[in-house]
Amino acid sequence: MSDGCPLCATVQQGGPPGGWVGATDEWAVMGHPLQVPGWLCLMPLRHTESLADLSHPEATQLGPVSRHLAKALMESTGADRVYSYSLGHTVRHFHLLIGVPGATPETQGPRLLTRILQRDQTVVDQQASAALLGTVGRWLDAHPIAT
Ligand SMILES: [Zn+2]
Repeated sequence: MSDGCPLCATVQQGGPPGGWVGATDEWAVMGHPLQVPGWLCLMPLRHTESLADLSHPEATQLGPVSRHLAKALMESTGADRVYSYSLGHTVRHFHLLIGVPGATPETQGPRLLTRILQRDQTVVDQQASAALLGTVGRWLDAHPIAT
């Protein structure tokens, strides 16, 4: 726990409103903080500021867990790929954002990432995000994360 860290606060509260989409003993998954449809936020339960600071168990689980989430997103949405990124510029608790491209050229590739990073409200859709989180959550219930 790190004072002032919003992700540690979420962990301390037992998860975001509606609960975790998935979790292991080291990692938890919730929707993208901006509620971008088809995007997830994977974070270690312990406060750690960078990829270099992960414990051995956290690092060992990161590959299988992130691969499993990519598969969950692809099978839940029909997307042919997923994007992922981690900056840690604003929130200094390591987190990996994983999501699917949008349906139009403006919501694909670098254009989508730029819009997300600029907090462009046109990529935010609370209802669509919640619906997709439900779909991904049901997929994960049927296909639990194995570490
Ligand atoms: Zn933290």
